[in-house]
Amino acid sequence: DSTPAHVNLDDNDKLLGGLLTSGFDEESCISRIQSHLYRKASPHKPSPYLISKLRNYEEIHTRCGPNTRAYHRSMTMIEHSKNKGAATLCKYLIWTPANGLGNQMINLAATFLYAILTDRVLLVEFGKDKHGLFCEPFLNSTWILPRKSPFWNEKHIETYQILLEKDRASNSTEDLPSVLFINLQHTRSDPEKYFHCDHSQDLLQKIPLLILQSDQYFVPSLFMNPFFNQEVTKMFPEKETVFHHLGRYLFHPSNEAWKLISDYYEAHLTKADKQIGLQIRVFSPVSTPQQAVMDLVLSCTLKHKILPQVDLQTSAGKNQTTVKAVLVASLYREYGDNLKRMYRKNPTLSGEVIKVYQPSHEEHQKYNDNKHNMKAWIDMYLLSLSDELVTTSLSTFGYVAQGLGNLKPWLLYKLVNNETHFPPCERDFSSEPCYHFPPKHYCNGEPLKDIVSSFPYLRPCKDFRVGLKMV
Ligand code: GDP
Repeated sequence: DSTPAHVNLDDNDKLLGGLLTSGFDEESCISRIQSHLYRKASPHKPSPYLISKLRNYEEIHTRCGPNTRAYHRSMTMIEHSKNKGAATLCKYLIWTPANGLGNQMINLAATFLYAILTDRVLLVEFGKDKHGLFCEPFLNSTWILPRKSPFWNEKHIETYQILLEKDRASNSTEDLPSVLFINLQHTRSDPEKYFHCDHSQDLLQKIPLLILQSDQYFVPSLFMNPFFNQEVTKMFPEKETVFHHLGRYLFHPSNEAWKLISDYYEAHLTKADKQIGLQIRVFSPVSTPQQAVMDLVLSCTLKHKILPQVDLQTSAGKNQTTVKAVLVASLYREYGDNLKRMYRKNPTLSGEVIKVYQPSHEEHQKYNDNKHNMKAWIDMYLLSLSDELVTTSLSTFGYVAQGLGNLKPWLLYKLVNNETHFPPCERDFSSEPCYHFPPKHYCNGEPLKDIVSSFPYLRPCKDFRVGLKMV
């Protein structure tokens, strides 16, 4: 055995190959030390460069985070001085939420990467709806923007769009603000934002406090910038593992969430030989009848032998050997109930026993609701522990599960109405989230034509052809 005596293998597993730092009070966040007992060991090791960037970030966060002298001095300067090139001790990036929890989590991971790349301290504007979902990710500090910060929900802040217009008009950067609000929420018709372009980044770099709002996983755009590209490529030699690493670094279920997750897992899932995650997201329940969705789910899972056919000739059980547990995540209870009924009535042709579980059915998406978000987080986490995962095209909720679990999901075709569609699902090529609305122009303003020949490490997403992800 060539393992040096001082390397404690158990610690190495616990710390996910060096991704996590040691020194946390274990009781304060049990999931951080126990998650490796529930999830298969990842074949993707964090690179030494990523590890060093994370340790360096942690050092900056400890020095500049809330409740430090550097924080108070920097924030006072930001609040009271116009930014006349006066350098603050620390620079900040405030994340603000948009859209559902899945959107928020993939965007938060992207925002964290941007903070690392620009030496900014990441602070999150978490309202009551996210209270007690996650542990603090940074040792001896907090990432929560203090409630008494003047920048909490501040409405009268110069916007990035105005800054760009002023810059175009005067080409002078003398009156840069000290705080800037950047809205990177995209729709198909938005004007181009040029956020990743050198020119914008040169301006932004001089502004000590940025407030970012977006629901997008904009990591691929960071790869489009030559300087960031060098850094991220060194941090992530396997480009398709960005969310897998950053997600597992940032998002640890709080003790309350962990108890619910681990209890559910122990009670229902751990005994099965195989665990299947089924995420059934219906974006427009009015125009997509439940039967059409159910047909799609069955057609996908039976065709790819994710679930077995039932034997309609008999109701007597065969020599049943293996047990498959199916975890259904959906707002609607009917999907879980249908599957349960189907596998209760008849045995399967393969002889497998199918057990179906659905932890929650919230009926509709709720906003600013803490209990609702907790259920969503539990569903995402449990899905991420599956051996095989079926998700719904375009759903960021599914992206979080696949990314944390390093799973290449089967993507259910996006039904828009009562159509029948073949193929009902397709296997994704990686576990990375899709960037739904990437830039449509080069930084010189020319329309981006052939993305893949300009950026060979980007591919259109399978579930949304205008979206991009890394390969
Ligand atoms: P997306 O809209 O599918 O991309 O995912 P988001 O997470 O951004 O928004 C959907 C929101 O609806 C979730 O955050 C939940 O609040 C709720 N939701 C949707 N599907 C489920 C589900 O299967 N389980 C639970 N618990 N909540 C869900």
